[in-house]
Amino acid sequence: MVSHEEVQAALSARIDGEPAGLDDAIVDAHVSNCAECRAFLDQALALSQEFGGTERPALDPPQDLSAVILASVDDEWRRLSHRRALGLAVGRILLLVMVVLWVLWAVSLIVAGGEEPVVASSASVRLGVALALAFTAWKPRQIPGVLLIVGTMFTFTVGFAVRDAVLATGQFEPVAVFIPFASVIALVWTWIADRGGEARRAWRVLGANPQ
Ligand SMILES: [Zn+2]
Repeated sequence: MVSHEEVQAALSARIDGEPAGLDDAIVDAHVSNCAECRAFLDQALALSQEFGGTERPALDPPQDLSAVILASVDDEWRRLSHRRALGLAVGRILLLVMVVLWVLWAVSLIVAGGEEPVVASSASVRLGVALALAFTAWKPRQIPGVLLIVGTMFTFTVGFAVRDAVLATGQFEPVAVFIPFASVIALVWTWIADRGGEARRAWRVLGANPQ
């Protein structure tokens, strides 16, 4: 005959996945005829489910559901605002690079062009654009107005470049198209980085179902 202690030790080992030391058939035969060992088995199974089982905790609702939801919303907001700050920093660097290019472009005109009024006028326009771009790097809210001016300049330079190419007159300067074009890109990039998040949030609010 096996003792209750031996059977219960074998049951514990079986629940823990260890070698029982007793034949399963002998243990099962004893448990089916012994109320004490059956009660031990039920208790041991309940305990192992509560502490070692994986199913039950997963089915339990989180302690504080609203805290979990708020934490994930906060993460999303942090991620978005981080991306906005990064995009804005890149845009400002692009704008400042363009400021340097416009100033250099104006200076090269003055150095090469002498005293003619047309040269002075063109150089002052380029310095004015450099100033306006520097202002938008500081205040991105002012981008639309400056974008209108630089965009118009870009359209004109493309128009003149096409005319020069078609009529084969004048000297086509790639830099005269590139600098306004790159400035438009820098302005649009910074404007999207600055205001894009607001547009996305507004869209999300409009799309959110209040019910
Ligand atoms: Zn027993």
